[in-house]
Amino acid sequence: MDGEEAVTSSTKEKKGRFKRICVFCGSRAGYKSAFSDAALELGKELVERKIDLVYGGGSIGLMGLVSRTVFDGGCHVLGVIPTALLPHEISGETIGEVKTVADMHQRKSEMEKHADAFIALPGGYGTMEELLEMITWSQLGIHDKPEYAPVHDKVAPRQSWEVDQSGEALRS
Ligand code: AMP
Repeated sequence: MDGEEAVTSSTKEKKGRFKRICVFCGSRAGYKSAFSDAALELGKELVERKIDLVYGGGSIGLMGLVSRTVFDGGCHVLGVIPTALLPHEISGETIGEVKTVADMHQRKSEMEKHADAFIALPGGYGTMEELLEMITWSQLGIHDKPEYAPVHDKVAPRQSWEVDQSGEALRS
């Protein structure tokens, strides 16, 4: 079973459970078209399931693709962004509802508060850091919400996701 199916079937098993999903993903498109394809696919899937989006705000990279797709599909989009990242040259145009926060710590806290689950698409250090923090909080019992890492074969092989992500950050 490839990653896309893994995410899809896990979500289907719990149909109706998730109203808002937080997506962590790259602030760049990356060098493989499969990354953008995965972002668009996920956006469409959320729309089809009428699931709202929580994300890092802005319209750059894969973050922009997912948020635009969900917004255009009629679902609610909440972008949580630190004031320092708001300038257009850093985050592009904002989409949907935007909540500005003081810093990166408050951002993760807000994202966690507003989401029922977390999905990570390809990205760099920012994406890894956010996903790992949510996994750590889950281990510590701070939340009990599921996290899904990308295991789509064309995006990142299951066994080498961490290595691949480090590589993307350096190359992109
Ligand atoms: P990265 O994977 O390093 O590209 O970082 C992407 C993640 O970090 C996203 O999930 C965002 O929450 C956050 N992030 C990094 N850069 C930006 C930016 N310029 N604008 C908004 N969020 C960003």
